[in-house]
Amino acid sequence: MAINIEAMRAKLNASKTGGKPSGSKSSMWKPKAGDQHVRILPTQDGDPFREFHFHYNVGKNPGIYCSKRNDGGECPICDFASKLWRDGVENDDQNLKNEAKKLFARKRYYSPVLVRGAEDEGVKIWAYGKTAYETLLGYVLDPDYGDITDPQTGTDIKLTYTLASGPGAFPKTSLQPRRRPSVLCDDAIADCQDLLDSVPNIDSLFEVKTVEEVQAMLDGYLSSDSSAEDSSTETQMYQKKTGEDVDKAFAAFMSEE
Ligand SMILES: [Zn+2]
Repeated sequence: MAINIEAMRAKLNASKTGGKPSGSKSSMWKPKAGDQHVRILPTQDGDPFREFHFHYNVGKNPGIYCSKRNDGGECPICDFASKLWRDGVENDDQNLKNEAKKLFARKRYYSPVLVRGAEDEGVKIWAYGKTAYETLLGYVLDPDYGDITDPQTGTDIKLTYTLASGPGAFPKTSLQPRRRPSVLCDDAIADCQDLLDSVPNIDSLFEVKTVEEVQAMLDGYLSSDSSAEDSSTETQMYQKKTGEDVDKAFAAFMSEE
């Protein structure tokens, strides 16, 4: 029997990527500029519109999963930002308040989607913001649409993505359900049950750092000079300190309360 070249290619890729099958390494999906159609899939827990909290703006780190807001655990960044906020309020210092706001955890929303025209790539996870979240929930609660994720009677969504128009602007996501409901998939696309079974557990997608790791990221950010350039002197004072100094500084002003 002739060798199966595709299987060999997959094995080589798996080997190069540390043994994980290719394709499982990134299930995240980002819309492209312009129009695309997606179908949101139902999840085992009955909630396909999941909300998670992350800290952005902590130096060059990507969003940091907030154990406090997500799971009721500990989060050094939340603690630091709260202290900074209180200090800003007590001293009527807008710069401190702004710095605190930058560090507060922000919500991000996640849904499993099948991207029309790319069904063979399987189920992807789409991350989106509050406006899209509220729009989607609005459709679900609107009797004209109902459960848009139902595999038989749900509705595809037209997603129009507009890139940020310039510095300081944000990209825009507009959503419009298709006029008619449709099935999630027919035999020409995939086995529908296989697709539903392949919807990942969204909770398992995020890297949860330890308290020590998060503290180290915060300390690294606070001690970097570049982050202090456009801040007030008082903010710089905190930012230029090492983690230990920051603890002392806050212990000092906490005791003043
Ligand atoms: Zn946090």
